[in-house]
Amino acid sequence: MARGLFGTNSFLGNNSGYQTPPTSSADIREYGEEIAALRTKVERLDLICEALWTFLQREGHTEEELVEILSELDTNNKAKKQAALNGENEDDKPQLCPNCHVPLQNTDSLVDRCIYCGHEIVSNPFK
Ligand SMILES: [Zn+2]
Repeated sequence: MARGLFGTNSFLGNNSGYQTPPTSSADIREYGEEIAALRTKVERLDLICEALWTFLQREGHTEEELVEILSELDTNNKAKKQAALNGENEDDKPQLCPNCHVPLQNTDSLVDRCIYCGHEIVSNPFK
């Protein structure tokens, strides 16, 4: 099984510090396989984006609207990055249950259930 670029043993994406770059032919082969898998995934996501955009165009949405939303999202992302650089991270604030307003435990799962009232919460998948 490939180690993966974002796995714990990888050269990239490891928060534990610097590791030596891959030097053996086995390492290089593994990274080549990983890059091929990521390329396939990007191509699939590209196709999905194109399909979603086709749906939206059929619903009457225009390229101007798309550009406007992309610009808005880009501006928001830049503001978030700047806030993070300034130590103002919104993601660090505890999320409140929309039903009973008690701070929720951060489980990093997409769908969660409030342990106090049982309300099901779907997190933002883009965080
Ligand atoms: Zn609750």
